[in-house]
Amino acid sequence: MTEIAHFINNAHVASTSGRSQPVFNPATGESDKTVALATTDEVNAVVAAAKAAWPEWSKTPPLRRARILDKFKNILWERAEDLARAISVEHGKTHDDALGEVTRGLEVVEFAVGAPHFLKGEFSENVGTGVDSFNIRQALGVVAGITPFNFPAMVPMWMFPIALVTGNTFVLKPSERDPSASLLMADWLKEAGLPDGVFNVVQGDKEAVDALLHNPDVKAVSFVGSTPIAKYIYETGTANGKRVQALGGAKNHMIIMPDADLDMAASALMGAAFGSAGERCMAISVAVPVTDAVADALIEKLVPQIEALKIGPSTMKGAEMGPVVTKQAQEKILGYIDSGEQDGAKIVVDGRTFKQDKQGYENGYFVGGTLIDNVTTDMKIWKEEIFGPVLSVVRRNSYDDAVALIDQCEYANGTAIFTRDGDTARAFAQDIEVGMVGINVPIPVPMAFHSFGGWKASIFGDHHMHGMEGVRFYTRIKTTTQRWPTGQRTDAEFTMPTLG
Ligand code: NAD
Repeated sequence: MTEIAHFINNAHVASTSGRSQPVFNPATGESDKTVALATTDEVNAVVAAAKAAWPEWSKTPPLRRARILDKFKNILWERAEDLARAISVEHGKTHDDALGEVTRGLEVVEFAVGAPHFLKGEFSENVGTGVDSFNIRQALGVVAGITPFNFPAMVPMWMFPIALVTGNTFVLKPSERDPSASLLMADWLKEAGLPDGVFNVVQGDKEAVDALLHNPDVKAVSFVGSTPIAKYIYETGTANGKRVQALGGAKNHMIIMPDADLDMAASALMGAAFGSAGERCMAISVAVPVTDAVADALIEKLVPQIEALKIGPSTMKGAEMGPVVTKQAQEKILGYIDSGEQDGAKIVVDGRTFKQDKQGYENGYFVGGTLIDNVTTDMKIWKEEIFGPVLSVVRRNSYDDAVALIDQCEYANGTAIFTRDGDTARAFAQDIEVGMVGINVPIPVPMAFHSFGGWKASIFGDHHMHGMEGVRFYTRIKTTTQRWPTGQRTDAEFTMPTLG
């Protein structure tokens, strides 16, 4: 059994806690490694290393910091396949999907390399006679990232490239379910020239998270995960004086209008609902066809495609969907399908009956693609995030009712509308109370130079991730007002300075 442990001061460090848990291969259900679970003392030692590295790193010119990230980006391009394999073996997603994740993370590194440009300050000449004023953005200090299992490379890369390039030092606490990607990235950052202590990884569970939330040297916390934990992180972190951005869970709806291209909508739904086995915070989990005629026609198109889904391990050629992450996740998802059935919804395609017969993978955590019709808003399967390959259909009779359904949902991460009508699309984009909107685009994940984040129970805190929102989160503004002696002398002034 190998133990996956910590990365501190540019070195792999074994755990001393005596606490660990197994890491499984979801495709086989087997485990041949464990992940260390850090104690509070171990976390505090990591934060101390990051704190010691901060003064020099924060004074390193942004251009030099950016060049290190540029090298890291090139290493990522070269070794994307290695990182994708490490992701798939612990997460279960298909190899191509894992490669896509690496690319989306890499794009944030590309954005971060532009730091010398986006860290330029503002300067006002002559705000008063002979007086100039300028503002700059400075790093916060040690910042922490706490990340979920579903994107073990991309979500950390939403955070650390921008945190590092703006002059912060970083402590990453990855998900304990798929921790290996974090250490590969740490090795490659070191290889790219990052000084000791600037990027660190501490493995762990709630104890490690709580230690980060209570350590006064951690100035900011970025979190991505489920809503109850996001809320807890936000409340605890801010109560301890930290800046916090905490992104939570989701329930994303896609409206299909009567004028939509139904073939296009059905194939978009297939990828958006079943890609990555539905374990994406931007997965579409609810289809909202407007009118029964659209619902019937859409379901007719979806059923054969769902039944034909190629489900298998990441190494299977042409696999479209892998297993879900853990046995518990599998049981939870199957339980949701049971609950939908008990509540009176119609199971049109039943993923509970799927059996993986590929030799060696019979015990993997597979769930078949599932389609459930006649779902209503009083059902648990509409109210709660399922996070699996389950697509619900909630029928609506008008655009207004479809919009009202989305606004009724507690989550507001992503949404989409499929229509050919420009007026409808424009009204939807303007009015809907959701953070990320797609018009004939099922998964509207913003590019790295825009920012990622939902509304309502999908986020706690004021800043979205990456893009200029990331820069704002990881920096604070300092404004200097300066006057240089010109021979002009004035007596002390006791009124509020007006400068003009
Ligand atoms: P999770 O909330 O269980 O875990 C996320 C992180 O929190 C992990 O690092 C974990 O170790 C830590 N954690 C778990 N329980 C904790 C506790 N009691 N106290 C302190 N820390 C704790 O989430 P997950 O299952 O890893 O990821 C799936 C969830 O993440 C889904 O809800 C999904 O929607 C959400 N997600 C959201 C986004 C987004 O951008 N909004 C992106 C990806 C995933």
